[in-house]
Amino acid sequence: MTGPIEVLPDDIHNRKLVDNVHPGDWANPEPAGRYNLVVIGAGTAGLVAAAGAAGLGARVALVERHLMGGDCLNYGCVPSKGIISSARAAASVRYAADFGVNVPDGWAVDFGGAMERMRSLRAGISRHDSAARFRDLGIDVFLGGGQFAGPDTVEVAGRTLRFRKAVIATGARAAAPPIPGLDEVEYLTNETVFSLTELPSRIGIIGAGPIGCELAQTFARLGSEVFLVEATHGILPREDPEASGIVKNSLVRDGVHLLCCGQETKVRKDGEQSRLYVQSHGQSYDEPVDKLLVAVGRAPNVDGLNLEAAGVEYDSKAGVEVDDKLRTSNPRIFAAGDVCSRYKFTHAADFMARIVIRNALFKGRAKASALTIPWCTYTSPEIAHVGLYPTETEKQGIAIETYTQELDHVDRAILEGETDGFVRIHVKKGTDQILGATIVAANAGDMISEVTLAMTHGLGLKRIAEVIHPYPTQAEAIRKVGDLYNRSRLTPFVKSLFKKWLAWTR
Ligand SMILES: Cc1cc2nc3c(=O)[nH]c(=O)nc-3n(C[C@H](O)[C@H](O)[C@H](O)COP(=O)(O)OP(=O)(O)OC[C@H]3O[C@@H](n4cnc5c(N)ncnc54)[C@H](O)[C@@H]3O)c2cc1C
Repeated sequence: MTGPIEVLPDDIHNRKLVDNVHPGDWANPEPAGRYNLVVIGAGTAGLVAAAGAAGLGARVALVERHLMGGDCLNYGCVPSKGIISSARAAASVRYAADFGVNVPDGWAVDFGGAMERMRSLRAGISRHDSAARFRDLGIDVFLGGGQFAGPDTVEVAGRTLRFRKAVIATGARAAAPPIPGLDEVEYLTNETVFSLTELPSRIGIIGAGPIGCELAQTFARLGSEVFLVEATHGILPREDPEASGIVKNSLVRDGVHLLCCGQETKVRKDGEQSRLYVQSHGQSYDEPVDKLLVAVGRAPNVDGLNLEAAGVEYDSKAGVEVDDKLRTSNPRIFAAGDVCSRYKFTHAADFMARIVIRNALFKGRAKASALTIPWCTYTSPEIAHVGLYPTETEKQGIAIETYTQELDHVDRAILEGETDGFVRIHVKKGTDQILGATIVAANAGDMISEVTLAMTHGLGLKRIAEVIHPYPTQAEAIRKVGDLYNRSRLTPFVKSLFKKWLAWTR
């Protein structure tokens, strides 16, 4: 039996969630002899590794100390996208007049209702990651904290699991930045923000990375006054500056107060509230906020695993050290997902777990460096990226040519009122080989898959230009980039040849 776990608020939806992903009456099985694979952590990486290995006939144990489904289901992708959809609905109402639709005065967001909708959807999705489902797949599911007892043994809840191979898939958690006063105030992280039931009238968000930006826009659209603090200039510092500039304008239009180039940030408790101090662009801010959300990066979960006993090298910031085959310094032990990767995305964790199955169980030679990993930040508009940025190609000494199709020349984007964006594709100079792409568009996350497919299978921009896209769609912008490339090949010399041929055949 395991101890009870409560996810707040304690309502019918969260009880259903917990019943699925950490049932209070769960009885851990008796360990079977030696396992082909012991998986520590039942987030995306662990679930995919366990299900994949069991499906191939391996004897598998899966160990989870908290909620199966990990961050993605419980505190990450699922709840964030759940409330983003409510925020998008609110924005549609707010901007409805631009579309000739008059909404009566007095309309209001029901924040509690939006959060309950999210909890209900999350509970429904949780069936897929449930302990019972994984037991039914033939996996021994152990609920409890796992730690290594030696190079080929893991201990969990008083039981010892022996393994031929193991996977560390313990994920990451919100990092706590060294901001003066932070340890004196109560602040939210991704583990607590989705438990809110009342809209904070003023919320401070520290960190304008993907999580900070998605939630800043969401809270603003749902009615909070939002102060978004970022140490660098603008938002989403990793992204193409023109792309992040478009999203920045959108956040500001939605009412987010962006305090970028923030210096001397500190916080202080002030009765029921907190005060947020920051210097931004030569101005001092001292803002009282009801809630403070910290979203400044992720720290790998390496503590408490007794990695020393297993001979697994790690770094408290970068996580478990792995080679390109995702093998740790102990050849029996692999790692996958946020605990060992700089690509902290669910789909990256999924594909790393597939590599581990091949390499750990079948002496495969699959390499993480061969993965083409796209990503997306689900603001409005979304920013999606795949491959290299120009700053990276420059560092690597690769000359590129860049083709950009603005959305204000794409009929569907014009008709939807979504012209702030573009599709930008970088190719190796003198070729049509795609090295990277950034898309800013309402559904950039869906659109980037076409470019990812092309990159994964070595299809160049010429091939994209040959693909018929339905009219009118925003994805047509991708084909138009192919047209731009083809037109760029039409040099004056080629044009003069065409002209001569056409004159001759008149
Ligand atoms: C707010 C937010 C929004 C996000 N949105 C997206 C998105 O839209 N798209 C996207 O691709 N990614 C998104 N992510 C990132 C995504 O959630 C992670 O990349 C993904 O969950 C990583 O999966 P994982 O299996 O590596 O780790 P996790 O999901 O963190 O799972 C690790 C599991 O290991 C367990 N564990 C840890 N230590 C032990 C131990 N000693 N014993 C037993 N169990 C242990 C943990 O309890 C946890 O369940 C988001 C993240 C956040 C925080």
